[in-house]
Amino acid sequence: MGASSPEAIARAVLTRLERLIPCEWLSIVLYNRELTEERAIAWQQASELQIHVGDSQPVVPNDVLERLKAGLSVVTPDLATQHGPKAQLAEDLETQHMHSAMANPMLVQGRLIGVLALASTKVNFFTLEHQQIAEEIADQIAIALHQAELYDQIARHNFELEQRVRDRTAELEHVNRELEMFSYSVSHDLRAPLRAVQGFAEIIARRHRSSLNEEGQRYFDYIVDAGGQMNQLITDLLDYSRLGRQHVRFGTIPLRKLLLEVIEMLQPQITKYGAQIDLAEALPDVRGDKTLLMQIFANLLENGMIYQRPGVSPVVRVDCTIEPEAVVVRVADNGLGIDQEFHEKIFNVFQRLHSAEHYPGTGIGLAIVRRSVELLNGSIWLESTVGVGSQFYVRLPRPTGL
Ligand code: ADP
Repeated sequence: MGASSPEAIARAVLTRLERLIPCEWLSIVLYNRELTEERAIAWQQASELQIHVGDSQPVVPNDVLERLKAGLSVVTPDLATQHGPKAQLAEDLETQHMHSAMANPMLVQGRLIGVLALASTKVNFFTLEHQQIAEEIADQIAIALHQAELYDQIARHNFELEQRVRDRTAELEHVNRELEMFSYSVSHDLRAPLRAVQGFAEIIARRHRSSLNEEGQRYFDYIVDAGGQMNQLITDLLDYSRLGRQHVRFGTIPLRKLLLEVIEMLQPQITKYGAQIDLAEALPDVRGDKTLLMQIFANLLENGMIYQRPGVSPVVRVDCTIEPEAVVVRVADNGLGIDQEFHEKIFNVFQRLHSAEHYPGTGIGLAIVRRSVELLNGSIWLESTVGVGSQFYVRLPRPTGL
């Protein structure tokens, strides 16, 4: 009943009530908050009657109103012999040959919101039993109408909230796109002057090496190295900003097959670090984009090999747990570990915990990973113990219909 309109509730109640109290006219009238106007939201009347409770009728006289406000029904045995001022409605009923009438108050939290009004062509028609039935029904209508109103308010509120979230998201997306364009063009424009610096530095370091003393040679080597590092940074940054504009092609990807391809691609690094990569036998399908998934796992596996304690051979294991609608892939290493304080920060662009001198990198890898995971409607987090190892968890949606 919560979702029905007040009018629909009122109509349904009157149809049933008519069978219990067979009178010629039944109506549900609502009052405004100030009790100065009334509005019939439903009525049921014998076909020959012509009683219309329109909008903005004046309400009942004061003494009647006081009784109704106190929660008491008002039964009039015969409108024709009634004394004192009459409501417009009572007069209308009388002209249509109604004699007895009954008004049962509808109260919500002590406030009069309207009446259930009935009239009959017979004098003294309404019995005590009729009155009891009508009072009970009036109470229930009041509750139902109140709930319908609350439901309406909640629905309206929800709609407004959703609209606000949509607006905010659109704004954020716009700002994000602008930032991406900005970082893309900055990185792009930095490329040309950097290439010149690198080119000339290399020429000097090569051709004029003999005319430099040892210190000069060392400085030029630094310049060439720093140029290479900066070039890598720009490449990573461009990759990162391109991610936002990339079209994501969702498909069903067999995880084990994909990881075998990643391992194949990382073979040079695996050899370089003397690493061992273990894949769980049973790895399911996920829903995702192959390029993004390759990027995610290549970065995680590579990090697992790079951030290693001296003298320890890297062992990286990939396994997973299956949830009803998602797969959580775990990439666990036996490396340096990451202090809890940095578990969020390492996903930011340029955030590094280790120097490039000892551990190569630009600090963009995990930012790319998180961005890619989000583009796939997934999430990423980690657990880690310093000096023991880290576990990165990637939750990815499962293909639908599994
Ligand atoms: P990069 O590896 O290029 O520095 P990332 O964004 O991939 O950039 O990683 C950011 C930082 O997080 C790294 O510099 C490193 O300090 C830390 N880190 C990432 N993965 C691991 C790991 N598996 N074990 C320990 N530290 C890690």
